[in-house]
Amino acid sequence: MTYAAVVVGARVAGSPTAMLLARQGHRVLLVDRETFPSDVLSTHLLHVPAMAYLRRWGLLDRVVATGAPPHERFTMDFGPFAIAGPPPPVDGAQHAYCVRRTLLDKILVDAAREAGAEVREGFTVDGLLHDADGRVTGVHGPDGPVKARIVIGADGLRSVVARKTGAGTYDATPSLTACYYAYYRSVSGLGAEIYQLGDRTVVVFPTNDNLACVFVACPIAQFHAFRKDVERNYLEAIGRVPALAARVAAGERVERIRGTADLPNFFRESHGPGWALVGDAGYHKDPCMAAGITDAFVCAQLLADVVHRGLAGEQDLDEAVASYVAARDDRFRPALQLTCQLASMEPPSADMAKLLTTIAADPAESTRFFGMLQGSTPIPEYFDPANIDHILSAGTHRPLDSQEPRT
Ligand SMILES: Cc1cc2nc3c(=O)[nH]c(=O)nc-3n(C[C@H](O)[C@H](O)[C@H](O)COP(=O)(O)OP(=O)(O)OC[C@H]3O[C@@H](n4cnc5c(N)ncnc54)[C@H](O)[C@@H]3O)c2cc1C
Repeated sequence: MTYAAVVVGARVAGSPTAMLLARQGHRVLLVDRETFPSDVLSTHLLHVPAMAYLRRWGLLDRVVATGAPPHERFTMDFGPFAIAGPPPPVDGAQHAYCVRRTLLDKILVDAAREAGAEVREGFTVDGLLHDADGRVTGVHGPDGPVKARIVIGADGLRSVVARKTGAGTYDATPSLTACYYAYYRSVSGLGAEIYQLGDRTVVVFPTNDNLACVFVACPIAQFHAFRKDVERNYLEAIGRVPALAARVAAGERVERIRGTADLPNFFRESHGPGWALVGDAGYHKDPCMAAGITDAFVCAQLLADVVHRGLAGEQDLDEAVASYVAARDDRFRPALQLTCQLASMEPPSADMAKLLTTIAADPAESTRFFGMLQGSTPIPEYFDPANIDHILSAGTHRPLDSQEPRT
């Protein structure tokens, strides 16, 4: 029996891809070596554009019903000044949310199943099938071979589909940060708080069950020193923001501190005869922009649209998939560059500091800034010199030494 598509990996990239193809009437097998619900090493901010995808897919109400609080505002605190405000709405979605992956990924797997995809959990793919011309024709799983017209690797950073096809990386920068996070009860504020603290970044995301995810990042060069005493270094970073440290001290940590330094930045060759990659498998980056899930949704929709065209005979399947990769790279290359810039944790240049303080003084401009960070305003458009001139000439810039210090 041959499937139209086998999707390997059933989280935020794989399940929507399988769901969208199944909704188009294709015979889809979605597999994951894990079972659901299950967690994954990741914080889990869903920017407003991600919520707009969930709305478009008919899943917004289910995700909101998990009880995660809406992030009504973002605060990016640079010490002497802070940019704060709501991010702009996108296609009927108003707020960002931070939904535990145990809940979000299960909703997505269930939605793929409901759409008609056959879902097999606890199914590890350990090889690919090829025809005599080298075209990928299926996967090798626990019960033997499974044939498909296309194999889609949504199997994350260490993608087996990428490894078996020999897909290389490009636009690559090695890990720039290491990060640690834990969950605290009774620490949440009204939305995401991001504190830029020189060689530390601290982020607070309110999430399900009255918990807040408290995240700390350090430069990769300090990873070995940091991991020698994770708890002390994690709390030392939080202690740099006294008001936050007091909230954390009054709250209760409910899970162990988890972390990683395996955060490379790259695109990976993501198509070839009979196969494609989506999500982290094809495009991985530092979590400083908290964009992996949002970007996985964008790419799932882009890929499913073109694979449908190929499977329906409207376009050559391999050419269709190549067009997805070109569109993905065009769209996300500026974000990959900005991610690496932010993850380097270099202090902002004088020009950038002037721009940021001007934005901070203007609520409407602050909202537009968060629109750029969440991906609803294209980065090149935002940083176009004409736009920067407009922001600077319209705004009021207060020199840094006249700003209020953080308390
Ligand atoms: C510390 C950290 C914080 C982050 N914070 C955020 C954030 O706040 N917001 C955000 O948007 N993004 C964040 N990200 C990024 C986000 O987690 C990823 O971009 C996202 O999980 C990618 O989803 P995916 O579906 O592509 O891959 P994954 O979530 O990695 O899922 C891959 C799936 O493939 C399965 N699989 C792998 N190999 C096989 C195999 N051989 N056979 C069968 N199944 C297989 C795995 O079991 C897994 O379920 C963060 C990442 C990290 C590390």
